Amino acid sequence: MRDPGALDAFSGDESVVAPVRPLAAVRARSVADVQATLSWASQHGVPITARGGGTGKAGGCVPDAHGVVLSLAELDSIRSVEARHGWAEVDAGVITGPFREAMEEQRLFYPPDPGALDACTLGGNVATNAGGPVALKYGVTRDYVLGVEAVLADGTKLELGRRQPKGVAGYDLARLLVGSEGTLAVITGVRLGVLPRPREILAALLPFASIDDAADAVARSRLLGLRPRALEFFDRTALQRAARSPGFPQDPAWGALLLVEFDGEPGEPEAALLRFVEGLDKAPLDVQVATGEARRRDLWRLRRETSRLVKAGAAGWITEDVAVPVGSVPELVALLPGLGERFGLCALAYGHAGDGNLHVNLIWDEPEAGEQAEAAADAVIEAALRLGGTISAEHGIGLAKRRFLPREIGDRSLQLMRALKDQFDPKGILNPGKVLGGPW
Ligand SMILES: Cc1cc2nc3c(=O)[nH]c(=O)nc-3n(C[C@H](O)[C@H](O)[C@H](O)COP(=O)(O)OP(=O)(O)OC[C@H]3O[C@@H](n4cnc5c(N)ncnc54)[C@H](O)[C@@H]3O)c2cc1C
Repeated sequence: MRDPGALDAFSGDESVVAPVRPLAAVRARSVADVQATLSWASQHGVPITARGGGTGKAGGCVPDAHGVVLSLAELDSIRSVEARHGWAEVDAGVITGPFREAMEEQRLFYPPDPGALDACTLGGNVATNAGGPVALKYGVTRDYVLGVEAVLADGTKLELGRRQPKGVAGYDLARLLVGSEGTLAVITGVRLGVLPRPREILAALLPFASIDDAADAVARSRLLGLRPRALEFFDRTALQRAARSPGFPQDPAWGALLLVEFDGEPGEPEAALLRFVEGLDKAPLDVQVATGEARRRDLWRLRRETSRLVKAGAAGWITEDVAVPVGSVPELVALLPGLGERFGLCALAYGHAGDGNLHVNLIWDEPEAGEQAEAAADAVIEAALRLGGTISAEHGIGLAKRRFLPREIGDRSLQLMRALKDQFDPKGILNPGKVLGGPW
C-alpha cells in the first residue's frame, strides 16, 4: 500500500514520538507474506518496522521515512487450544482482550492484561514483554511464552521454544525475542501458556488519607504474606485530574487510592481482603467492595482510562514507566510533589504499584510550562535508578527511552546487545535505531 492518506494510519503509536509516514505498508495475510517481504527488504536494504496494534508507548513502531511498515494485524486467528497441555497457539495479530475472553469461555485464563487490551496484539505484547495489573500475582508476557514462530531478516522462518514448561536445550532464543521490539525478528505466531480460570475474584477500592499511608500499604502487602492479584495505586493529583470525568471514584478527603483484587477458590478472596485491611498500620478511610461482576469490570475500565483522563485538556506530557523495588515505592511517590514544583508542572503517579511499577506523568496545561519537562523526566529516571529500579518496567525502550538505556545497563551490556543484533540482523533492516540506537 502506498496511498499517502492510508499510510498515515501506520505512522505513529501512543507515545509522544512524532509520527513518520513510511514509504509503504504491507498488510501480511500469511506467514509467507512476511517471509517474502523480509526477503525482498533484505535484498534491497529497506528498513522494516513490524506493527501490531500500534498502542506502544515508546515509539517502537514509528517507522523509518525510507522504510516499510509490516503490519501483522490481519494475521489474527487462534490456531489451536490444547487445554490438556496448558497452551494455545495464536497468530501474532490476535488482539489480547478477545483472546483472553475466548480462553475464559473454555474455563481457561491467560493472565497478561495490558491496559490497551482491546487494541494491542499478542505479537506486540511478546515484542514488548507487556505486563499489566495482574502481573503482580501472575507475571508478565515472558512468563507465558513457550514458543515463538518468527521470521528472520532474510526471510527464513524459525520455530523456537517448546511444548511444556520445562526445557533447557540450548540458549532460550524464544524468550530472547520477548521484549526485542521488532529489532531481532518478526514474530508471526506464539505458543502461550494458559492456566485454569480462578473460580472467584473480588475487587475493592481502598481510599487512604495520605499518599504515604497508601504507599505503605503497598509495601506491607508483601510482608503480610498475601498475594493480591492486582494492587493499583492512584495519587491525589491523578485522582483529581481523572475525577473531572464522570463516574471516576472520588472524594476530596482521599489522599490516595488503591484498587486491590484477590482471586482464588470461593471464600478465599474475602478472607484475603480482610487480612490485608486488618494487617495495615494505617487503616484505609473506607473499604468499597465491588458488588458484582459488572461493577468490577467498570472499575477496571476506569483504571484503563486513567492514562487518557489525567491528560485530558493538557498542552503536553511525558509519561515515564519506571519501577523500583516495592519497598521503595513510598520514597519514589514522596518525591513527586517537590519535583512538580521545581519544574513548574504537574507530576502525578498511578499504576501497578504492587510490583513497584508506577506510571509517572509529567503534565503541563500551558504550552510554555513544558520547557523544563525533559529535565523533570531526567530527574524521575535518576530517582528510579538511584532507588535500584528500572527506566522501563513494561512499555519498552523504542525511541522514547533510548537515551536513558546506557544509564541502566552500562556499556559492556550495550555492546553485547549490539553484537546479538548484528547476528540476527546483519544488514540492520529490522526496526533500525530502536532500543539500541545505531547504526554503530
Ligand atoms: C491506554 C494504554 C494502556 C497501556 N497499558 C499497558 C500496560 O498496562 N502494560 C503494558 O505492558 N503496556 C501497556 N501499554 C502499551 C502497549 O499497549 C503495549 O506495549 C503493547 O504490548 C503493544 O502492543 P501492540 O500490538 O500495540 O504493538 P505495537 O505498538 O504495534 O508495537 C510495539 C513494538 O513491538 C514491535 N512489534 C509489534 N508486533 C510485532 C511482531 N509481530 N513482531 C515483532 N515486533 C513486533 C513493534 O515494532 C514495536 O517496536 C498501554 C498502552 C496504552 C495506549
